[in-house]
Amino acid sequence: SSQARPTVPADYYEDIVPAYLNSSNNNNGHLLTRKANATMLMLARNSDIDGAVRSVREVEDRFNRKFGYPWVFLNEEDFSEEFKKRISVITTTPVSFGRIPHDHWFQPSWIDEGKASAGRKKMEDDGVIYGGSLSYRNMCRFNSGFFYRHELLQPYRYYWRVEPDVHFHCEVDFDPFLFMGDYNKTYGFTITMYEFEKTIPTLWDTVKAFVKEHPQYVSPENAMAFLSEDGGERYNLCHFWSNFEIADMDFWRGEAYTKFFEYLDKTGGFYYERWGDAPVHSIAAGLLSRKDQIHFFSEIGYEHNPYTHCPTGEAWTRGRCSCNEGRSFDYDGYSCMAKWDRVNGIVH
Ligand code: GDP
Ligand code: MN
Repeated sequence: SSQARPTVPADYYEDIVPAYLNSSNNNNGHLLTRKANATMLMLARNSDIDGAVRSVREVEDRFNRKFGYPWVFLNEEDFSEEFKKRISVITTTPVSFGRIPHDHWFQPSWIDEGKASAGRKKMEDDGVIYGGSLSYRNMCRFNSGFFYRHELLQPYRYYWRVEPDVHFHCEVDFDPFLFMGDYNKTYGFTITMYEFEKTIPTLWDTVKAFVKEHPQYVSPENAMAFLSEDGGERYNLCHFWSNFEIADMDFWRGEAYTKFFEYLDKTGGFYYERWGDAPVHSIAAGLLSRKDQIHFFSEIGYEHNPYTHCPTGEAWTRGRCSCNEGRSFDYDGYSCMAKWDRVNGIVH
């Protein structure tokens, strides 16, 4: 059956935004009728400071000055005083800076370093982006299986992942966290595309072995049709671009994903290959939750170099978007958006 694309309902705008504009009820200077258990989240290095400031500035201008969610920053080193000062000055909401526990970040001792360094060298020689980088692998593994265990994130259920140097092109005049909760969504995205196969040669075989051993964790209403053209035999490399994520940490913290991550991790694939948190999160969301629990936030104009998702039509006007709607990545040949629409029966 043909469906319209699910969008955030009008009352999410009507309830919250006029209330803000009238500015009476108050929550840290922000007027809200309801608030979610959620935080903004950024992983960054001290050297990322300029880009981090620019991203936070844009998120505050387009969204968070109206909603007042706290920020959490994580780093495997201590944040510098300069980093803390320049970030904290931008927002009036609570900001916390945390250090990642050593074992949540660095390569575990049981990894065969000879095999890992040979894998890095080969991938570097093959010209794969970040192919020779160890720190990138630490980052991908941390984002796959550890960030939601950090003590600063324990109070929260939902997070919005923001990276340095990204852009938010439109007003966000609704609370995406409340939408996630009300509609029982686990994972929200804005851009979807193909992964580089050379970074994940054995990931799908590992996923298939996990599914065979633990079929009870796979949702009967999964999104396998989005991930595979042949019922699960081969991975089509489609994934959600995880530099933007609005998601439910209860999903990552739950039994199914915990077992899934442990299963993947013990193969060493994060180090012997270069498994990204994007395909790992996407495959998990696609198989372990229901397809209708994954949400495309079409209204959120987002850019991470080199790609932009730009809303079109009414959403572009209402969002006072600064992006070129003719240049949205959605229907680029390298995007998986058309496939997402197809498996959801969405027609335009
Ligand atoms: P790309 O988007 O795949 O090109 O990777 P990025 O360089 O943007 O890294 C992804 C995220 O992880 C960004 O938020 C970075 O600031 C962060 N990041 C990457 N490497 C490190 C690292 O070694 N330490 C820390 N603390 N953050 C990192
Ligand atoms: Mn990035």
